Amino acid sequence: MRVLVVEDEASLRESLRAQLTDAGFNVDVARDGREGLFAGLEYPLDVAVIDLGLPQLSGLEVIRKVRAEHKTYPILILTARDNWQDKVEGLQAGADDYLAKPFHFEELLARLQALLRRAGGWASAELTCGPVTLDTRAQTVRLEGNPVELTTFEYRILEHLMLRAGEVISKAELTERLYDQDFERDSNVIEVLVGRLRRKLDPQERLRPIETLRGRGYRFSLTRETG
Ligand code: CA
Repeated sequence: MRVLVVEDEASLRESLRAQLTDAGFNVDVARDGREGLFAGLEYPLDVAVIDLGLPQLSGLEVIRKVRAEHKTYPILILTARDNWQDKVEGLQAGADDYLAKPFHFEELLARLQALLRRAGGWASAELTCGPVTLDTRAQTVRLEGNPVELTTFEYRILEHLMLRAGEVISKAELTERLYDQDFERDSNVIEVLVGRLRRKLDPQERLRPIETLRGRGYRFSLTRETG
């Protein structure tokens, strides 16, 4: 999942970059509102964390402008504690959730995961499609109740596909959202990883959980359970 962090406080920005990277995100950071607006309009993001008090351009302006350009990814704002006006204005500008500083990283992570699930139409942290269950908190996968061992990249691809189960996801989108900018973007790598996921999730080749749509991408095609 690709996340943008717009924060002018260097220590907070860098600690969020490190912790979100550890949590499995591909992280872009911006130091002020102008950089944040550029990244928010140009990068293929899944979610953004935007501080409201920013130099160059305020967080509210950034949010208004990205929403005016029809960017729909969820946005979480960081606000000063006890400033209810900021929260209201942020939500009115198009933010989806807020967190007052100082906060615990675990709370930020839980809120981002919840925003991503809801953006994909899921209500709970466990995503179940047919016999496959993916737990977005524990980052584990079960097949008919039995644990499936996945590498970090295999897990990230599966999470991305299952969060948006039923939708076609292009290879380019998977590559851009999973890898850092400096990582070699080779779509053959995605093919290899998807092939390994298929063998792990469907050793008998009877479920066919991941469809390939020629020239368009992949679709996780097992039926979503409600919840
Ligand atoms: Ca600030």
